Amino acid sequence: AALYGVREWSGGYFDVSEEGDVVLCPKGENDGSRLSLPRVVEGLRKRGISMPVLLRFPELLDQQIHELNSGFNEAIEEYSYGGRYRGVYPVKVNQQEQVIDEVCTYGARYGHGLEAGSKAELIAALAYLKNPGDLLICNGYKDERFIELGLYARRIGIDCVFVIETPIEVNLIIETAKRLGIRPKVGVRVRLSSCGSGHWKDSGGDRSVFGLNAGQLMDCIDRFRESGYLDCVQLLHYHLGSQVPDIRDIRTSLTEACRVYVGLIEEGAPMGTLDIGGGLAIDYEGSQSKSGGSRNYTIQEYCRDVIETVKHQMDLSKVDHPTIVSESGRATVAYYSVLLVDVLDVNRFEPDLDESEVPQDAHYLLRNSLEVGRALNDENLQECYNDAFYYRDEIRQLFQAGALGLRDRSLGEKIFWDNLSKIWKLCSQMDEDEVPEELLGLESFLADIYYGNFSLFQSLPDAWAIDQVFPVVPIERLNEEPSRRAILSDITCDCDGKVDRFVESGRIRRTLAVHEPRDQEKYLLGVFLVGAYQETLGDLHNLLGDTHVVSVRMGKGGDFEVDREIEGDSIADVLSYVEYDPKQVSSRFRASVERAVRSGDIDVDERRSIVKTFEDTLRGYTYFEE
Ligand code: PLP
Repeated sequence: AALYGVREWSGGYFDVSEEGDVVLCPKGENDGSRLSLPRVVEGLRKRGISMPVLLRFPELLDQQIHELNSGFNEAIEEYSYGGRYRGVYPVKVNQQEQVIDEVCTYGARYGHGLEAGSKAELIAALAYLKNPGDLLICNGYKDERFIELGLYARRIGIDCVFVIETPIEVNLIIETAKRLGIRPKVGVRVRLSSCGSGHWKDSGGDRSVFGLNAGQLMDCIDRFRESGYLDCVQLLHYHLGSQVPDIRDIRTSLTEACRVYVGLIEEGAPMGTLDIGGGLAIDYEGSQSKSGGSRNYTIQEYCRDVIETVKHQMDLSKVDHPTIVSESGRATVAYYSVLLVDVLDVNRFEPDLDESEVPQDAHYLLRNSLEVGRALNDENLQECYNDAFYYRDEIRQLFQAGALGLRDRSLGEKIFWDNLSKIWKLCSQMDEDEVPEELLGLESFLADIYYGNFSLFQSLPDAWAIDQVFPVVPIERLNEEPSRRAILSDITCDCDGKVDRFVESGRIRRTLAVHEPRDQEKYLLGVFLVGAYQETLGDLHNLLGDTHVVSVRMGKGGDFEVDREIEGDSIADVLSYVEYDPKQVSSRFRASVERAVRSGDIDVDERRSIVKTFEDTLRGYTYFEE
C-alpha cells in the first residue's frame, strides 16, 4: 500500500486490506465499512460482466458533496461570516446522466446547483434540477435561444444566472429580456491579472480567452445602467483554471476578485454573490505539494481560506458578505470512478545472451560490443552506456550497407540489450542521485510491457493529451512484494497508447511495480481518480468504444449491490457512430459469403458458421473477450 501511495492520494476512500486487496471505504478511512474490489470483480464475472469495466461509487459522490458543503458551512461558522455558501456542479466535468441525476439528488439537502456552459448542458440541467430556488449558473457563449430558455427557467423558479463572458452578450440579454418581459439575473466574468500555476493556468489571467478585462467590464456596467438593468447585475465570477495546486494562488486571485466586487458595488450594482469558479485540486500524486498533479491544501483549508479572505476584504470596505458560489467539478467527481483493466499479456525485454554464441573470429564490432559489458563497473557507467549505443548503431549501419548478415545483426542486438540490462542492474543498486541522468531512462527502456484490456484514448484521454498522471494499482496481491517493473500498454494499435508515468511513494516514476501474473488467474489493475473529465473527452480511436459501466454500493456483510449497469458499446454501436448501418454491414458480408458458396469454395454448413461468427462479433464488446 505504501509503495503505491494509496493512503496519500485516495482521500481516505480507498485502502488496502490485510489480505492485500484494494478496498473501498465509502465513508472515509475511519468508518468500518469496507468493500473489496477483487470481490466486486468476482461478483461482476458471475453476472457475466467482463473487463474492462468502469466502476462508479455513488457513495463517494454523495460524500464529496457533503465534504464541500460542510467545509464551507463550518468555515462560515468559524469566521462568523455573514453570507452563505452555494455550490454548483459544472456539468462539463462529467455530463453522464447518472452523475447529473446523483448530483441533483445528493446536492438537494445543501441547495447544490449546476453550472452549464452550452445549450445541451443547459437542457440537461433544466431537466434535472427539481427544487424551487435551485441555482443554475450559465457560463459560455449564449445565443438568443439559450437566453430565452434561461429566462423562462427563472419563471419556473430556477435561480438561473447568465454570466457575461463577452461584451456582445450584453445587448442580446437586454433585448431578449425586454421582449419576453422577464428580468434576468446577470453575473459578470472577469479576467484577473493574478493567475495560478499548473496545466490550466491560462484559463485565468490577462490572456485568458474567457471573461472581461477591466475596460470591457466598465463598458458592460455602463450599458446595463443606461438600459435600466443595472439592478440585474448581482454576481461576479472568475475562474483561475482547473487543478490549482498552490493555495497561495487561490488567495491572491480571490483578493483581487474581492476588490473588483467592491468596485462593482461602488458602481451601483446590487451584487450579492461572488462565484469563485473551479480550481479546487485533487492530489493525484499523493505528494501534497505544489506540483501540477497535486495540491498543498485540503478541502477544509480551501474553504477556510476562501471565507477568511472574503470576510477580511469585505469588512475592510464595509460591504455585506456575499453568498459564495464555487464551481468545483474535479474535486466533486474525481474519486467517483475507477477503471478496472485485466492484463492480457506481458512482453519482457530479457536478454538471453549466451556469450559462447559470439565466436572468437566474430566481427570486431560484435567482440567490442561484448567487451562493453565485461568492462562495466560503478565508475564507467556512462561510458559503457555510450559505447553500447555506438556499437549497436555501427552494427546496424554495416547491416544496411550489406557488410554484415542478419544473424550478426541479431547477435549485435542481443549483446546491446545484455549490456543495457547489466548497466541498469548496477544503476538500480545505487542512490538515484548518483546515477547519471541519461541512464535513469533505462528503467522504462528495459521495463516489461503489460498489455491492458483498455484504450487510453477512450478511457484516460488526459493521460495521452496532457500527461495527466492517474494512480494505477494492482487491486489484489498487495501483501506480496511486486517483482517486476512495467509500463502499461493499451490494445489500440497506436504507440501513444501507453501509460508510462505512475505514482510511487509520493513521486512520479516511469514504470509501475507489478507482480508476475499467475497462470489461470487474471492480473487486475485499477486506474483511480478517473471520474472527472475522462468519460466524455474519450474518443473512438481504433473503434474501441465505451466500456461497461457498473455502479456499486456497499451491501450487507461486506458484499455489494449493483445500483446501475450500463452495457458498453457493441461493435455495431461504434460502427453506427461512424455512419455505418450495422444491418447493411451485415448484408454486405452475407453477400460475400454467398459468393463463396456459389463458387463452391465453401458449403452451406461452413457458411452458417462464418455468418454466425460475424454476427456474434458484431453484437459483441469492442474489447478483448474471453
Ligand atoms: N468553472 C469553469 C468556468 C470552468 O471552466 C471549469 C473547468 O475548468 C470549472 C468550473 C471546473 O473546474 P474544476 O474541475 O477545477 O473544479
